[in-house]
Amino acid sequence: MSFADLPFDVGPVYEGERIRGNQMYIELGGPKVEKHFELVRVKKDKEIEDGKITIIGPNIKDMEEGGRYPIGILVEVSGPELEEDLEAVFERRVHEFCNFVNGIMHLNQRYTNWMRLSKSLIQKGFDDLTMLGTVLIRLYKAELPIIKKAQVTLITDPKKIEEPYEFAMGIYDKRDERARTIHDEDVDMYYGCVLCQSFAPTHACCITPDRTSLCGSINWFDARAAAKVDPKGPQEIAS
Ligand code: SF4
Repeated sequence: MSFADLPFDVGPVYEGERIRGNQMYIELGGPKVEKHFELVRVKKDKEIEDGKITIIGPNIKDMEEGGRYPIGILVEVSGPELEEDLEAVFERRVHEFCNFVNGIMHLNQRYTNWMRLSKSLIQKGFDDLTMLGTVLIRLYKAELPIIKKAQVTLITDPKKIEEPYEFAMGIYDKRDERARTIHDEDVDMYYGCVLCQSFAPTHACCITPDRTSLCGSINWFDARAAAKVDPKGPQEIAS
């Protein structure tokens, strides 16, 4: 996998990069923007056009320096071994993969996602959100080889984000409702997660049916699915 065709660096070394207000070119999502989300969906093979990137709404060149804009990140993936249980696990990796970009800071998840793009990233030539879609697609397929095809839609239009935002909220509710149906005594395995160690080096979560993760985005079902597909990954069997 190479990013040599892009005008900026990409790699895990940039995780944990902070972009302060005076370094920021634009902010996408975050507490001052009304609607924003990130969602991963597992689809059938024929429903995915591998590598397709769709931008709905203003692109970088249409945005004012210092401005705040909505962001919807929809990643759709397919592969013969994929199942719906993996969606939340894949979704949490949006945070990691966006942070691989030198000049992007990504915080939080689901409908609290918050990104800052730095002035230096824009100066290097990041003038099209398609580049972010390219990074996401390449990293998803390289880091999670069970993903065979991926397409990305990025939404920045305040009106057009409304319907996919409500759809995403429904998916989050459905996942949470399912997690409420089981309890610690119903299972014989708990899980650990260390995904946040790029920002908080001593942090780890223990995830049981009654003890959901600190971020709220990895429940026991998600951790079980993650440990199954990537036993040495950030979510692992704890006991
Ligand atoms: S489960 Fe814990 S370590 Fe993992 S992403 Fe959430 S807060 Fe971070």
